[in-house]
Amino acid sequence: MNREQAERIELARERLAGADRVIIGGGAGLSAAAGLTYSGERFTQNFADFIRKYGMTDMYSAGFYPFRTQEEKWAYWSRHIVCNRWDPPALPLYRALQAFAAGRDCFVVTTNVDAQFEKAGFAPERVFAVQGDYGKLQCARGCHDALYDDEALVREMAAAQKDCRIPSSLVPKCPVCGGEMEVNIRKDAFFVQDPAWYGAAARCDDFFGRAAKGKTVLLELGVGFNTPTIIRFPFERMAYRCPGVTLIRLNMSEPEGAPENAEKTLSFPEDMAGILPALLA
Ligand SMILES: [Zn+2]
Repeated sequence: MNREQAERIELARERLAGADRVIIGGGAGLSAAAGLTYSGERFTQNFADFIRKYGMTDMYSAGFYPFRTQEEKWAYWSRHIVCNRWDPPALPLYRALQAFAAGRDCFVVTTNVDAQFEKAGFAPERVFAVQGDYGKLQCARGCHDALYDDEALVREMAAAQKDCRIPSSLVPKCPVCGGEMEVNIRKDAFFVQDPAWYGAAARCDDFFGRAAKGKTVLLELGVGFNTPTIIRFPFERMAYRCPGVTLIRLNMSEPEGAPENAEKTLSFPEDMAGILPALLA
């Protein structure tokens, strides 16, 4: 570790320790650093048959594959959901975050849909998972706003599939309109925001309002530019407008922020898995 890095870590630690409030912004890079990588061995070992049949290259792009039948779509998605949502335990990086947040005034806003914050023990009323949850299904056309826990169903689909297809009898149907079902993740205009989603959104707004006034740290973890309007831009805006705010950004590929906030930003392009525990300890 060089001197510049040691000083940057020390300053970030001081800001975190002295903060009245901390808002954690969790993006895809956080879950990847925690171990839920979407390419490489986790993909090739779990999806060999799909790679042979469809030429898939990673779980991120596979999520956009235009399957021709519901049997094929749910064969892929059930395994994807079991692999990324239901099988993994709370991962150490998320547990380290929870240990830090316990007893502090913290709120989480995340684009991740793998429920790792919840698994690690964050209070549900302190988490806003903006983009949904792999663990829930919705009507594909959003004809009503109920969500349905999918664990038992996707595990059954994953176990019963053959040649990248599930039995037709397991294809889920909307209990209201009889149409197709979808995973409750935002990918089109039919994404269902249920009352719990709106409740979390309101608590998030409220927390941002209070955090604007005191010594607040915005801890931005692995947030890129896929959906910058959810975490990245609001964090930059808050850092710009509020004198007591420090933005701590951990991002290996896009660490640079708005030049206006350079004085208030501590950026860590280093590997998050090594740096984050050092900041939180
Ligand atoms: Zn419906």
